[in-house]
Amino acid sequence: MALIVHKYGGTSMGSTERIRNVARRVAKWARAGHQMVVVPSAMSGETNRLLALAKELAPPKTTREYFRELDMLAATGEQASSALLAIALQAEGMAAVSYAGWQVPIRTDDAYTKARVDSIDDARVRADLAAGRVVIITGFQGVDAQGNITTLGRGGSDTSAVAVAAALKAAECLIYTDVDGVYTTDPRIVPEARRLTSVSFEEMLEMASLGSKVLQIRSVEFAGKYQVPLRVLSSFTPWDIDLGDEARSGTLITFEEDEHMEKAIVSGIAFNRDEAKISVLGVPDTPGIAYRILGAVADANVEVDMIIQNISHHGSADFSFTVNRGDYARTVDLLNSKVLPTLGATEVAGDTRICKVSIVGIGMRSHVGVASKMFRTLSEEGINIQMISTSEIKTSVVIDEKYMELAVRALHRAFDLDQPGA
Ligand code: ADP
Ligand code: ASP
Ligand code: MG
Repeated sequence: MALIVHKYGGTSMGSTERIRNVARRVAKWARAGHQMVVVPSAMSGETNRLLALAKELAPPKTTREYFRELDMLAATGEQASSALLAIALQAEGMAAVSYAGWQVPIRTDDAYTKARVDSIDDARVRADLAAGRVVIITGFQGVDAQGNITTLGRGGSDTSAVAVAAALKAAECLIYTDVDGVYTTDPRIVPEARRLTSVSFEEMLEMASLGSKVLQIRSVEFAGKYQVPLRVLSSFTPWDIDLGDEARSGTLITFEEDEHMEKAIVSGIAFNRDEAKISVLGVPDTPGIAYRILGAVADANVEVDMIIQNISHHGSADFSFTVNRGDYARTVDLLNSKVLPTLGATEVAGDTRICKVSIVGIGMRSHVGVASKMFRTLSEEGINIQMISTSEIKTSVVIDEKYMELAVRALHRAFDLDQPGA
């Protein structure tokens, strides 16, 4: 019998009825002889509700003092759902105890709202498991060296679960959610999307980083670093289905490339609507320009994603890059006030209505013409490509946001992702 970590997302914990269903499922696993650690998210909508209350009281700020309070606030969502799950388990006749991140403790750095896990103390949890208790650990949160509550970024309960599984050397980490696995693309956008029975760790990492929010990217990074066996599956099946069938369902994230995977040239399509494009126009085409623009942006702690430079015929260049939409306004302000006057550029222009669409697949390594098929497909749909970036296993384009669904559907079809066995 094994030590297993279950993670339940917000929708899976969305009502007392759903929490009871989770408790029954967990009790089934515990009664089958497994040592169970459960990491719940806040009940669906709760984190948004709490953060909206803060917004009602004051316009959002970017100070550490403010971010600290956001974490203090948002972390309560997981504390409530964890206690409710413990109560539901006890009602099922299971010994169960819930812990907040600081009680374990899950130690993190002090980057409020996007903290990273440094270490997890397993002593308390192990003692409870040895005493036959189900242990529930709040997702999404930890504690910094000064004892302040931190959170791990939106969707961070995935990372909590994988980090806990790594610390406890769990046999498997099961991520229960509102879909029955990882699909070729978001099934909410493309109903023909198919579930993948397995996906390589590298592909999952790309899909998560390119916008597939089914797993938070840091959870995939953690799974890779500590080789945590990871599976994504549905919490919406009846709780009393056969445990063996349940344990084999969903999508397994694999660390070895098998034959089946080598055949898949493109395994999935990801998209991201969270970015905005900024262009600095009429920049004198001289050495050091990229550094002066992007250096100032980096100094302001703004992450840059795609970058493109066009040379014009008159010795000047246009320099474009993408940033997170949340950073758009302050980046444009910074460029206008600090960079433009010293650079001799003519204008800073921007567009928040863009989206990035990416095709991902380890088969792209050994196949030529994949990117050009992507470009042809988009051109046949009359969709203009504004930016392109490629790596060994992905090609991303930036397009007008209004064509996002059309682009994802067309690419899904063009790469035969709706065909069984593709
Ligand atoms: P949870 O609350 O359980 O963490 P999330 O909403 O964070 O759930 O993640 C599950 C959602 O991810 C699905 O409902 C689905 O719409 C979305 N999603 C995006 N891309 C994919 C994909 N490739 N496969 C499956 N789901 C995806
Ligand atoms: N409750 C947090 C959020 O909504 C963490 C999570 O659900 O994973 O982002
Ligand atoms: Mg999630």
